[in-house]
This record gives sequence, C-alpha cells and structure tokens, in this order.
Amino acid sequence: MKKKIAIIGSGIAGLTLANFLYKDKNHDFMVYEKNESLPLDEGYGIQLSINSIKILNEINFTKIINEQLYHPKGVDIYNIQNKKICDLDLMQFNINDNKYTTLQRSTLIEFLKDDIYTQHIRFGKRIKEVSELKGKVLIKFDDNTNDLVDYVVGADGIFSNTRTFFEKKINKPVFKNAIAIRTILRSKSGLEIDQSKVSLMMGNNCHLVIYPINKKKELNFVCILRHKKKDTDIKILLDKVVKQNPNLEKAFEEDLKSWPLYATPKILPSTNSKVLYIGDAFNGFLPTLAQGAGQSIESAYELFNLIKNERGDIQNIYFQERSKRAKIVRRRSNLNFFIFHLSSKFMQMIRNFSMKFLIKRKGFINSYLGRVYKN
Ligand SMILES: Cc1cc2nc3c(=O)[nH]c(=O)nc-3n(C[C@H](O)[C@H](O)[C@H](O)COP(=O)(O)OP(=O)(O)OC[C@H]3O[C@@H](n4cnc5c(N)ncnc54)[C@H](O)[C@@H]3O)c2cc1C
Repeated sequence: MKKKIAIIGSGIAGLTLANFLYKDKNHDFMVYEKNESLPLDEGYGIQLSINSIKILNEINFTKIINEQLYHPKGVDIYNIQNKKICDLDLMQFNINDNKYTTLQRSTLIEFLKDDIYTQHIRFGKRIKEVSELKGKVLIKFDDNTNDLVDYVVGADGIFSNTRTFFEKKINKPVFKNAIAIRTILRSKSGLEIDQSKVSLMMGNNCHLVIYPINKKKELNFVCILRHKKKDTDIKILLDKVVKQNPNLEKAFEEDLKSWPLYATPKILPSTNSKVLYIGDAFNGFLPTLAQGAGQSIESAYELFNLIKNERGDIQNIYFQERSKRAKIVRRRSNLNFFIFHLSSKFMQMIRNFSMKFLIKRKGFINSYLGRVYKN
C-alpha cells in the first residue's frame, strides 16, 4: 500500500531520499525545510567517492554539465612545507561512469532539487509537536499546518531537532576541539601542487586539503586545525599555520570562513518504529575521510530500498546495516584526524615513512579505502 513519508530537512540526505522516492512513484512524500530557500550560492567544494557516485548515477547524475565537475586522478600528500611524501592513485577505484568526483556543494544541491522543487519541498517549516494517531504520526508545524504520515525521516543534520521530539536519550554532538577554515582559491596561490589532484598537506596540529571543483580550475581550500576554543579570531588561527609555512599567507588572503567541528559520540537507534534518521542526523563524522555527504547519500539509498521493498522490520534492518557502515567510516575518520595532526617530529617521521610504505600496498589500500569506496 502507498505510504506517506515526511522528510525533515533538505540537505544532501533529505534531497537524495526525495529523488529516489520521486523516481519510484510508489509513495507520497514531502520534504519540510526550516529555511526559506536552498543554499544555491554556496561555493565550497565537496568530494564524492564512488560509493556515493554509483548511487547518484541511478538518478541521472551524469546529466550534470561536465564543466561543473572534476575527476581528480589522485591525492598528493605533502608535509606543511610543501615537500611531497607520497601519492595515492584514485583512479584505481573508478569503474566506468562511477568516478571519484569533486564539485561545488551548490552544484550537487541544484541537481538534487531539479525534479522535486515545486511539488515536494515546503520551506519555513519547523516541527512544533508530534503525536501518534491511528497508527500514524501526526506532525504539527509551527505555522499551524500539519501532516499525518506513515514514516518520519529525520534528515535535519548533526543537531537534529527531530530527535528531540522522538528520543529520550540525548546524543549531543561533541565539539572535537577543531576548527575548519574554508575558501575558494582562483589560482594555486604560489603553492607547488598539481591542480588536477587532491593535495593534502600535514602540519603540526593542522592539515590542509586543496582540490579542483570544476574545469575552471577553481580550487576548494580547507584548513583544519586542532584548537580548543570555538570562537577564536580566524587571524590568530591562521598565524599558527603561516608560522609553519609563510608561503601559505597568499592563500589566506582570500575570503575565509570558519566552522567548529562536531561529531556525534554514539550511534543510537531510533526508539520509534515509524521514525528513521539519515545523513548527519543518523551520525555526524569528522570530515577527515571526506565521507559525510557520501554517507548521507548511502543512508538515504539504503532506507529507500527498505521502504520500496516493504521489508517488515525496517527499523531494525536499517539500523543494523547503517551502524555497521558508520562504524567503519567513523574509525577511519578518527584515525585520519589523529595522524594528519601529529606534532612530534619523531612521530611525523614514522608516519611519513609508514604512509609511503602502505600507500603502494594494494591489500592495505583495499581494506582501508576500498572497503569504504566500493561498499
Ligand atoms: C569542513 C567540512 C568539509 C566537508 N567535506 C566533505 C567532503 O568533501 N565530502 C563529504 O562527503 N562530506 C564532507 N563534509 C560533510 C558533509 O558536508 C555533511 O556530512 C553532509 O552535508 C550532511 O548532510 P545532511 O543532509 O545529513 O545534513 P545537512 O547538510 O546539515 O542538512 C540538514 C538540512 O536540514 C535543515 N534543518 C535543520 N534543522 C531543521 C529543522 N528543525 N526543521 C527542518 N529542517 C531543518 C537544514 O537547514 C538543512 O537544510 C564536510 C563537512 C565539513 C564541516
């Protein structure tokens, strides 16, 4: 029987699920977004490995104009002084149209909104109250509208408000004593890097990631620093990095924005069989494996398939599968966070030597990255 689904939040997770439901045409659904519009002018980049590209290709991702995407050939790994340590071939994971892809986040949102924008998204909606009625969930919004649905899907990000209505146990995101600073570079800004690849530079308590986001050679630049205070002036943070390599000053002349980094401490199941969580609302990761959006896409796809196939115990099957996957990604994101930020010269030397050795070992790469990318 046709089910009705309310998706709370129009980020990458919510929009991906909406696209699959739209394509399938077997269920009614609506995306409820608290903001008044989608962030279509956000220029920052996002990396998508083939586990998520494979899924997006099922909803015609290949229709995106080629100029708006990039397929980096590999990752060049440097120390903060721009001295190359080793490199990783990303093409080894590509299969036909499923290629490691970088793009602007807004390009992805623009693509995901295309088919569903007019009929299936309602803006300015925040849940005010929820209750159970005739085996369904009645959602009341703060603009006095309501919806009676079979499933509520919380896709409202790491600080999920949906959880506060349905869950007693709090799983409050924890500040990871780290800040991300981002900008878009129009040129290499004096850095000795290969613009056709992802560049990773590791320093004391900080690392930088630079990668192309389109064929115009615009580069996404993100600097992640270990830092205990959320609201420190960007200039003070940047000084810590520039001290390690004065050549970076030019990159830091651009328009910079900073974000404190959070992660969810535990992976908890939903306590209501009609309420499910996807994307960061299920589990928020550190961005050091570049998998947050990828996992948002994967989780939406997994849930869609369970709903489509009308699997009995959706809640249980979804949680078992998703938490297994999230644990794999979480372990690697946390380990990367640790090794990218080593401050002892001795430990850095051991790390660099180990990376050089391991990165060419197929068995290791297949188990560390292939397991995440190939799913
Ligand atoms: C510095 C940095 C770099 C990153 N780089 C990458 C990368 O390269 N690759 C990658 O895969 N991931 C990356 N990520 C992670 C990725 O951005 C996130 O994991 C992903 O965007 C999460 O998507 P989401 O849809 O679950 O949540 P969000 O993007 O947070 O979307 C949630 C949506 O819900 C809405 N909402 C919130 N509250 C409510 C409410 N009460 N009612 C209704 N709507 C609500 C919000 O407005 C928003 O539209 C990065 C993250 C950071 C911080």
